[in-house]
Amino acid sequence: MMKIKKCSECGGFVEEKYITQKFEREGVKVKLSGIKAEVCSKCGEIYFQPGGAQLVVSAVNSLFELAVREKQHKGTVAVSVG
Ligand SMILES: [Zn+2]
Repeated sequence: MMKIKKCSECGGFVEEKYITQKFEREGVKVKLSGIKAEVCSKCGEIYFQPGGAQLVVSAVNSLFELAVREKQHKGTVAVSVG
């Protein structure tokens, strides 16, 4: 059975998608793609799975750490998950 979810912001239809998010900190750019999340088709609000937001934050923190350590900060560190 498909669960139909609605956006708590606008009431629009929310669908499961793999999204890409970019983060920048002190000139270091990282990109995470393939993050499973639910996205409102109307307003674009992103809903992570339970605990998903924390996972994204810790993954991004690790990427920033790696980028600085490896001095890859001239470009964008991109990681694909999922
Ligand atoms: Zn919405």
